[in-house]
Amino acid sequence: MPIKNRFAEMLPEITEWRHDFHAHPELLFDTHRTSGIVAEKLRAFGCDEVVEGLGRTGVVGVIKGKIDTDGRVVGLRADMDALPIFEATGLAYASKAEGKMHACGHDGHTSMLLGAAKYLTETRAFNGTVVVIFQPAEEGGGGGREMVNDGLMERFGIQEVYGMHNWPGVPVGTFAIRSGPFFAAADNWTITVKGHGGHAAKPHETVDPTVTASHMVIALQSIASRNVDPTKQVVVSVTSFETESKAHNVIPSTVTLKGTVRTLDEDVRDLAERRLSEIANGTAEMMGATAEVDYLRNYPVMVNADAETEYAAAAARAVSGACDEAPLIMGGEDFAFLSNARPGAYILVGNGDTAPVHHPEYNFTDDAIPAGCSWWVEMAQSRMPLG
Ligand SMILES: [Zn+2]
Ligand SMILES: [Zn+2]
Repeated sequence: MPIKNRFAEMLPEITEWRHDFHAHPELLFDTHRTSGIVAEKLRAFGCDEVVEGLGRTGVVGVIKGKIDTDGRVVGLRADMDALPIFEATGLAYASKAEGKMHACGHDGHTSMLLGAAKYLTETRAFNGTVVVIFQPAEEGGGGGREMVNDGLMERFGIQEVYGMHNWPGVPVGTFAIRSGPFFAAADNWTITVKGHGGHAAKPHETVDPTVTASHMVIALQSIASRNVDPTKQVVVSVTSFETESKAHNVIPSTVTLKGTVRTLDEDVRDLAERRLSEIANGTAEMMGATAEVDYLRNYPVMVNADAETEYAAAAARAVSGACDEAPLIMGGEDFAFLSNARPGAYILVGNGDTAPVHHPEYNFTDDAIPAGCSWWVEMAQSRMPLG
């Protein structure tokens, strides 16, 4: 049976898995229920090996093809975690966990890769080994980094790796990809501005960290407008401005600023980090205050390797007849840790006209399941043809 017809047949079953995951979202590494179900299903499908607890709560399944004459091993990766968002979809299967929600569609990603694993264990029509990878903590926790550090690539001999994300705005049943830098490096920073608090009616007796921090917020805008080559991409966002004073008449001693820096190449990343620190310290000095800068390099730039991007696009064309050019995305993606360890490619699958990801009204589109599952299977079979 052609791949797509088989997944049309499996759609109700995979949709049921998806709705169950959706109703029981789990955050970061705390994906115990989800990981347990994934491992149980992989065993039931007849995977040759199932390993739990890699990267804390990650799960890996090994599926051997009918033959293995070339020793090729291809990794296929999905993410399992949800977000700390209060769901507002009103769905019958909406989150039962208050303040947690599958608002990025990882419930769909996990279900689609499970569907593909079921098909691949039934058919095994490839020459080599497929390793299905289910990672926790994509949303900021670096679950991919943990799995790679836990020996994911070496232990299973993975040679290349593929990932997929649903994308609102891309029509259902279609795909988009680009080679080279694709998702941005996502760094987090905190600046603690220390002054000298006092009575709001006697500002001359204080060093006001609120005024100092306000100058910093404005000065930080010059990293993008005055420091970075205008033909390159950078985002510097200040997302939190907190003072310890809750009163109308108290100048606080401390203000904390938080934000993020997004870049698409390492030179720009270095420059942005250096300027952020110089601006914070220089502004503090100018105002008689001090600044402490904590800059955390979190997710690296996610780069699609040229050859693997072409394999992924060819598989998409085989499934849907076409594959569009995706735009650059300044969001971060934990798959970067996997594609830094082995050549890889990451593709977008259409989620149709829905609310954006990370929105309380977002929902994964079940009609995208046949295309997504088919792409996974086509990816494995076309990279490891029986001959
Ligand atoms: Zn997300
Ligand atoms: Zn996501």
